[in-house]
Amino acid sequence: MRVGGVREPFRRPRTWKIDRGIGTRDVWREGAGRVVELIRRRGALVVVSAPSGAGKSTLCNEVRSVVPDLYYSVSYTTRAPRPGEVNGTDFHFVTEAEFIAMRDRGGFAEWAAVHGHLYGTPARALEGALGRGLDVLLDIDTHGARQLRQRYPEAVSVFIMAPSMAELEARLRERKSDAPGEIQRRLSRAREEIAAWRQYDYLIINRDVKEAADQLATIIQAERWRTSRLTLEFPDMEAPK
Ligand code: 5GP
Repeated sequence: MRVGGVREPFRRPRTWKIDRGIGTRDVWREGAGRVVELIRRRGALVVVSAPSGAGKSTLCNEVRSVVPDLYYSVSYTTRAPRPGEVNGTDFHFVTEAEFIAMRDRGGFAEWAAVHGHLYGTPARALEGALGRGLDVLLDIDTHGARQLRQRYPEAVSVFIMAPSMAELEARLRERKSDAPGEIQRRLSRAREEIAAWRQYDYLIINRDVKEAADQLATIIQAERWRTSRLTLEFPDMEAPK
């Protein structure tokens, strides 16, 4: 499988190049037209949470279309697919028995019961992507986010807020995919989730999806160059230690 651009030849007349082939997220350092050094990095884990209706799915899809090489973790869930949702792409739709068996095998990096259904992030896929140096985007609820922050203290978390409660309700009604009772349930849970926003590293208020996607993309791009993630040396530029 390959995401993003095609792997290009190493010899290019520039100093930096990010290899976009999946399986590597290496930064190649070049000098005088040849690779001087290969820098390995561990991928950044970006956790996004939002109350239902804040527009998080649209936002995450938008970000995935503008930020190359972002691995999107496909969760497992026991809820039924909504119209248009594809098994294996939007979610892995499983029965409760299948979910519990996987959970008991330690198959989830985190899991939570949300709106009466079980949701979980597959641990193996997540670890595999991070180990290969891919940046991972996770769309999970506030309980799951708390578990992940404990398991991966270096995770970067982003809370997406709707501009107002009225807007949140309007968006849920517009969606027409949930029954009225379900909408009320989601609204009261939304209030609980919003109370957790200060536990996150960043806040994005989603007034306009393009603007919000831009903000999320900026956060991800900045994380890519966090010095603690790069094993990088500049022997010809740094003073000797
Ligand atoms: P929905 O069913 O509307 O797609 O998602 C409902 C909620 O479940 C959202 O808040 C979403 O972030 C959350 N969710 C989706 N996947 C996961 C997951 O793997 N783990 C956890 N903890 N929450 C998830």
